[in-house]
Amino acid sequence: MTYPHTQLFIAGQWCDAADGRTLPVFNPATGQEIGRVAHAAQADLDRALQAAQQGFETWRDMAPAERAKIMRRAAALIRERANEIAPLITQEQGKPLAEAKAETLAAADLTEWFADEGLRVYGRIVPSRARPELRQMVLKDPVGPVAAFTPWNFPINQVVRKVGPALAAGCSMLVKAAEETPAGPAAYIRAFADAGLPAGVLGLVYGNPAEISGYLIPHPVIRKITFTGSTPVGKQLAALAGQHMKRVTMELGGHAPVIVCEDADIALAVKTAGGAKFRNAGQVCISPTRFLVHESIRQEFAQALAQHAQGLKVGDGLAEGTQMGPLANPRRVTAMAELLRDAVEQGATVLAGGERIGQSGNFWQPTILADVPTSARLFNDEPFGPVAAIRGFNTLDEAIAEANRLPYGLAGYAFTRSLKNADLLTRRVEVGMLWINMPAMPSAEMPFGGLKDSGYGSEGGPEALEAYVNVRSVAVMNG
Ligand code: NAD
Repeated sequence: MTYPHTQLFIAGQWCDAADGRTLPVFNPATGQEIGRVAHAAQADLDRALQAAQQGFETWRDMAPAERAKIMRRAAALIRERANEIAPLITQEQGKPLAEAKAETLAAADLTEWFADEGLRVYGRIVPSRARPELRQMVLKDPVGPVAAFTPWNFPINQVVRKVGPALAAGCSMLVKAAEETPAGPAAYIRAFADAGLPAGVLGLVYGNPAEISGYLIPHPVIRKITFTGSTPVGKQLAALAGQHMKRVTMELGGHAPVIVCEDADIALAVKTAGGAKFRNAGQVCISPTRFLVHESIRQEFAQALAQHAQGLKVGDGLAEGTQMGPLANPRRVTAMAELLRDAVEQGATVLAGGERIGQSGNFWQPTILADVPTSARLFNDEPFGPVAAIRGFNTLDEAIAEANRLPYGLAGYAFTRSLKNADLLTRRVEVGMLWINMPAMPSAEMPFGGLKDSGYGSEGGPEALEAYVNVRSVAVMNG
């Protein structure tokens, strides 16, 4: 299986870094180096910024329908190339091939949806309260060149949720994607280049994340920042953006509660939440993590979830039949070991898994812990791995209070057959996205984003485009 050397994409050209520097890329299933990625120097960033400004001026002045045509062509190319792109994602990130293919096809769908939504960035004419010949207009203009920082868990889709709405709104974007997973984002951006995107509208760089964000965020060319990643890094970047009065979208960490009520369909809850839990080895910001289960069904639920976890086939994502791949990097294996040790020391019981698998690659067993105290780190820090922590509850108010206890507020799940419970949960659980009696279904047309420490702004629905437009009032007196 081949894996390419990834270059920078600046001013419509693929190029190595000005000083020739590169970084290694590892396959998390084997720990072996599989390729290199160019490491941008400041001279590269300066060229990319200049190109982003020029690209913005060209793109802003194109008719939205022309922009949409290019975006749709790029989406078609991504769909055509899905069988070549998916193995790149599996090799650099670890997820099973079927998940990588689904991510690639979803990227095409999202891109198309945003292309069409770009046709509907409407302003308004507001009647004057004073004179009929006074024309008052509300205009929506693209904010300008955007700097985007994306993580390694969904190499392509994290880029799509930024590129899609930004380009649809008429912005240019300079993407700093994750150094650990560079080929997926490059394949996505290559589809735009091949679809005829004017030079400079999209740029792609890799390097030292802190140096690049420290240079791009204050830079006068950049008018907006969008970041997906951990809450601590998000707070740092938002603070820097605040110092320079730049607009910001932040899609940060979560610690999703799963509330299983006494009247829940237990089989549905196990199948749905269990499936979601181990997708991408739990390295998903909306992954279900804190299972709060009514005492009357806690044992039955925990045993069924443990059985589900034990039945999963873990292995190299390229191998036939693999249901869960390795963790994306050795940091996550260390994090799992520490969270497990702390939880067990505090009295939690391991019902399934709990160990690293082998010594090569970053494999961790699908793990279920019961009776986890709320003081355990696992019930407070985002696990970002294949670990489910279960606790019992007696009243729904108690469960809702626990769901809302943490500063996170990204996703939440609940299972109940009662309309009354569902209504209470809808009103009281403090999350940006709540799914009741179903798996997460973050579609293009629905808002995607969090509350509290999980960030602000949306990366789905029409709201995603609002993040990339300036609203202006213009009044003209005609007489
Ligand atoms: P990390 O906090 O070091 O990095 C998270 C992401 O931010 C990475 O992509 C990294 O390249 C980038 N980053 C780090 N410092 C940066 C800086 N100064 N400027 C710009 N970008 C910067 O953590 P990690 O070990 O890579 O990932 C683990 C944690 O990150 C997880 O526990 C999870 O909370 C979070 N995470 C969240 C998402 C998400 O989808 N919201 C995705 C990946 C990681």
